[in-house]
Amino acid sequence: MRDLVIIGSGPAGFTAATYAARANLAPLVIASSVAVGGELVRTTEVENFPGFPEGVMGPDLMEHIQEQAERFGAEIVYDDVTAVELGGEVKRILLGNGRTLEARTVIVATGAAYRKLGLADEARLSGRGISWCATCDGAFFRNREVAVVGGGDAALEEALFLTRFASKVHVVHRRDTLRASKIMQERAFANDKITFIWNATVSGVLGTSEVEGLALTDVVSGERRILDVAGVFVAIGHDPRIHLVQDQLELTREGTIAVQGRTSRTNLPGVFAAGDVIDPHYRQAVTAAASGAVAALDAERYLAAQTTFASPLTAERSPALPDSLEPSAGSIAVPEIGAKAKEGSGGSALSSTRIRVFGADWCGDCRRTKKQLTDLAVSFEYIDIQRDEVAAAQAREISGRTNIPVVVYPDGSHHVEPSNAEVEARLRALALL
Ligand SMILES: Cc1cc2nc3c(=O)[nH]c(=O)nc-3n(C[C@H](O)[C@H](O)[C@H](O)COP(=O)(O)OP(=O)(O)OC[C@H]3O[C@@H](n4cnc5c(N)ncnc54)[C@H](O)[C@@H]3O)c2cc1C
Repeated sequence: MRDLVIIGSGPAGFTAATYAARANLAPLVIASSVAVGGELVRTTEVENFPGFPEGVMGPDLMEHIQEQAERFGAEIVYDDVTAVELGGEVKRILLGNGRTLEARTVIVATGAAYRKLGLADEARLSGRGISWCATCDGAFFRNREVAVVGGGDAALEEALFLTRFASKVHVVHRRDTLRASKIMQERAFANDKITFIWNATVSGVLGTSEVEGLALTDVVSGERRILDVAGVFVAIGHDPRIHLVQDQLELTREGTIAVQGRTSRTNLPGVFAAGDVIDPHYRQAVTAAASGAVAALDAERYLAAQTTFASPLTAERSPALPDSLEPSAGSIAVPEIGAKAKEGSGGSALSSTRIRVFGADWCGDCRRTKKQLTDLAVSFEYIDIQRDEVAAAQAREISGRTNIPVVVYPDGSHHVEPSNAEVEARLRALALL
């Protein structure tokens, strides 16, 4: 039985972990199987997080915040939570690997997920020209024309980043003014490679196996036109990730988890929520981090009150990780979760005796995979696709995708954006562990 399990590894989750670890709550962070570090690992420069006058790269910031939590004893599990049972005094958390954890308190810090365009061809062409992460996938579009859909800070940030690779970046926005901050607008307007297509919505994505263009509709005149682009980056907002808890926790009108006043307390005792999943308005790294601190302090007070009032549950504290990960007797319903890693095989012509990881410095998942292989003492070759055009083409040829990391195993098989569990399973199957 854990004192505290934290679901989510963004600024909210890891800051909660730092506070809780310093309070001797031995928190366990379920960091997800991919996208560890949350939204900031998808971005480049973060200029507004306090303490970094020169700015800091998003993935670097998240690595620092994680290291800080681990330094005080927070434990991290690289897996997804697939179901929770939060109603009783003992909370139960089911992981993707089938194990169930028990905890006295839970902090939900699952953030917000990018919004999709909602078009028929979106799923089919996702990773084949449609992307939600310029920093991860931008290098695949060297000297090509691309589009960014959206008009907020995130959209302009994506557009500015893409100018490093693309020959032209078209920002497609459904209004005639941008929502983005003034400073971002000034930067985008000053960039020769960026053009704006105003009052336009995307009515279709063209292409059979890869994106070849966008069908746009002018919202004022109703006119339709085709925009020839090889890639489209979608930045039209986020929705709070509430699917795990929506039947158990009260929600606000905006669909975020409802908390009491300035606390992180939800409608269920012992369940706290923090970060973008409770925040329809501010959604910043610093507000998420602050909210994580509040949640840890609330959880600490809740546990202290339980001890004061002699709850039998607080007699034992925080056993080591392996015990807490033992399967528990009961089982709870598992809701469907989204598709995770994609897998490929074959390609023996490209096989090599070493494992090869195609990635980029700015890609958080690439860092996670590199770290995993390093921790496992598995020898591998790392190939940065952003520095090497040929490498980008090779990664795309092997995987047929425009996503990284691509891990190529000595037998020629490969994984695209794999979870740690998938990499480990493949290494074991190949007797490399
Ligand atoms: C492109 C971009 C640029 C940005 N730039 C800035 C900036 O410059 N400055 C700034 O202040 N903010 C910026 N933001 C906003 C900032 O990233 C968010 O406000 C912040 O990350 C929210 O933190 P969070 O911890 O609430 O959630 P997130 O960062 O979204 O983290 C949530 C975590 O929960 C995990 N998770 C979700 N469901 C599960 C589950 N079932 N099991 C396990 N784990 C799960 C996710 O994988 C993720 O790791 C940017 C956002 C984007 C998209």
